[in-house]
Amino acid sequence: MKLSTDRNKGILEGLNIGIVGGSLSACALAPMLLRGGAHVTIFERSSGNLDDRGVGLAMKISTLAELHRRDLIDQDLPYVPIWLRTFSRTHKTSQDSQDLWRTYWRQPVAFHANHWGVLFKSLRKRVPDSIYFKNYETVRIEEERNGAVTLHFLEQEPKTFDLVIFADGYESTGRRLLHPNLALGATKYFLWRGMIDEWESPLPAKYADTISYFGYPFGHGFVYYVPSPEHGSTPGKRRINWAFHETIADKDVPGIVPDEDGYVRTGLSPGAASKAQVQYCQAIAKKYFPPYFSEVVERTQQPFIQPVMEACSPNYVKGRACLIGDAAVLSRPHIGGGAGKALDDVLSLVDHLTGETSLDVALSNFEKERSVFGKEVFELGAALGKHLVEATPDWDVMDHQSMEHWWEKVIGDRYWFWINEVDSTHPYSTDSKS
Ligand SMILES: Cc1cc2nc3c(=O)[nH]c(=O)nc-3n(C[C@H](O)[C@H](O)[C@H](O)COP(=O)(O)OP(=O)(O)OC[C@H]3O[C@@H](n4cnc5c(N)ncnc54)[C@H](O)[C@@H]3O)c2cc1C
Repeated sequence: MKLSTDRNKGILEGLNIGIVGGSLSACALAPMLLRGGAHVTIFERSSGNLDDRGVGLAMKISTLAELHRRDLIDQDLPYVPIWLRTFSRTHKTSQDSQDLWRTYWRQPVAFHANHWGVLFKSLRKRVPDSIYFKNYETVRIEEERNGAVTLHFLEQEPKTFDLVIFADGYESTGRRLLHPNLALGATKYFLWRGMIDEWESPLPAKYADTISYFGYPFGHGFVYYVPSPEHGSTPGKRRINWAFHETIADKDVPGIVPDEDGYVRTGLSPGAASKAQVQYCQAIAKKYFPPYFSEVVERTQQPFIQPVMEACSPNYVKGRACLIGDAAVLSRPHIGGGAGKALDDVLSLVDHLTGETSLDVALSNFEKERSVFGKEVFELGAALGKHLVEATPDWDVMDHQSMEHWWEKVIGDRYWFWINEVDSTHPYSTDSKS
């Protein structure tokens, strides 16, 4: 067991590392740790294939470029570039029925739309099967006298490591063990989600590079193209990723039972929605959103529900146990960047582990760097949730100018990669007017 670091070798050389969770963060991390000479083992709770799951993801372009540079994903990983965010609404005074869903605000943004399963597969194939153990649920950790960390599993024998990295996502056992008093926060709204093949009900051609938003009294909906696992980003064969947030707002939503304080804590996985729930979801889409959106919802066989949760760990590191990705900070999904943040955590952790000469200094510097950013991302998610769902403006009276003021108030001087990665090469960088 190697607990003090050898100044002539990198920290990673011979270090025995256990990773809890086997999703995006773990599969990006493991190949780089192996390249540094570490012994790595991944313990994933699920016994199934993660690549069969997932819908669309908004990914930070610079993070994808870095993953390419480090050969962590395929060079030809398909994506759909998204360059604009539009807000549209009905213009009740319009005489032109074609003009009912007019765009009143356009904002240049920059991200690549990916498919979760496709990204996962590309990362996972660089992880040797011999180090990836499914059906291993970590339930407890124990700090040994020499600083090593023992993982206890639900069914298997315990295993001891020099360093344990918790990449175990939104319900993180690691976060619970490191911060027993930190509760997983919930909200009084939730997200309907789904995805269909483009050919079933294509979006209007002008929205090919756009994420289109629609405000409504219970929040907002959005829709954009993502690549398909079979056909990549070939026009005509992409997938359509849609979602809408819905506040509970004293409504009776079939199958949604908030806790006694009104917070929604449980969702529905694809295929689990009852007929009444599917019909309810379709009826909301038909009533409040443009026909092309409600048709997409109507054709979705298995819409599902994601609760909107949040958690911000005060520390990422305790001794030789460390949190990354959603385990460290879970932001509300409005940031469209949970995966990008998780992968940036991974890149930062590896840079510190390969750039410093002491494991403790590396972990401490990683925490200093990422926890500040994590807190900012957490606060951004909460602010977007407040202004886009919990306390929305009256969307029906918004116009270009009021949206500009509204957005200034929402974003302030916060960093958000969707807008901060808009540069001079962006196709609409000077075009923010409707
Ligand atoms: C199957 C799957 C599909 C997803 N699809 C989407 C999507 O389509 N769009 C989107 O925006 N986001 C999706 N997400 C969430 C998104 O990937 C994460 O928010 C983000 O990438 C952070 O990744 P992560 O690796 O930190 O955590 P996650 O991706 O959440 O992975 C955590 C992993 O840890 C495992 N785990 C949890 N507890 C334990 C334990 N005690 N012991 C061992 N293993 C444990 C989980 O099974 C999971 O595989 C998905 C996550 C998963 C797991």
